[in-house]
Amino acid sequence: MLGNFHTHTTFCDGKNTPEEIILAAIDKGFTAIGFSGHGYTEFDLRYCMKDTAGYVREVRRLQEKYKNKIQVYLGIEEDAFQPADRSQFDYIIGSSHYFHVNNAYLPIDSNYDYFKKCLEAFQYDIPLLAETYYSSFVHYIQTRKPDIIGHFDLITKFDELDASLFLQNDAYNKIAEKYVTAACESPCLFEFNTGAIARGLRTTGYPYENLLYIVQKHGGKIILASDSHSADTLDYGFSEAKAFLKNIGFKQIYTLYNQEFISYNI
Ligand SMILES: [Zn+2]
Ligand SMILES: [Zn+2]
Repeated sequence: MLGNFHTHTTFCDGKNTPEEIILAAIDKGFTAIGFSGHGYTEFDLRYCMKDTAGYVREVRRLQEKYKNKIQVYLGIEEDAFQPADRSQFDYIIGSSHYFHVNNAYLPIDSNYDYFKKCLEAFQYDIPLLAETYYSSFVHYIQTRKPDIIGHFDLITKFDELDASLFLQNDAYNKIAEKYVTAACESPCLFEFNTGAIARGLRTTGYPYENLLYIVQKHGGKIILASDSHSADTLDYGFSEAKAFLKNIGFKQIYTLYNQEFISYNI
């Protein structure tokens, strides 16, 4: 039941073509592979897909070409500030990569220098920053109901690089816990995203442990995601992630199989 549905390619900021990714996934014995190019964001063209139509055409072509070897799915990782045309895709990942403050979109996860601009925009008021981030993201989750919630607590991305501002901060944790509880009311799957571990930025995935306990308690559903930007990280940290999730109390995780999200035991 091995699969990954959070995968970037040369159509956005990934290193490999969709076909190279499919071949690597077949090599790894994946049952299914899903692509999730970054949806077009008119306010930031650095990393998103500029040729969405070409991406759709190419993934659909490969879906047909490899149908006897692996299930291929066409998804998109849309940003909460610019929803995509959902009807074109098999599934959507809904992620929040920006703060919209003072008429500007400030990227959260590009690099730490950019993130410092977010901190400055909120004058390092972490509770205010967290409240702003989660209230807008959870509103999007509840109204849009993406199939998968992307890296729920992305604002903690750089927390292990400098002085911890978030994960060891009680005021922050209270706010994140309140909003993850609210997000659990949606039917969406939460991804357990190992991308930042693969990039050497963190030792833990998203969401952080305390939030995962809450998701588990509320019967939330989890899907593994490597947020892969190259063919060699398609299942990065998945075995460790399964053991970790099992420890938290999850008995099953989800995958996309025969056009449906189904669960399997871990
Ligand atoms: Zn993302
Ligand atoms: Zn991504």
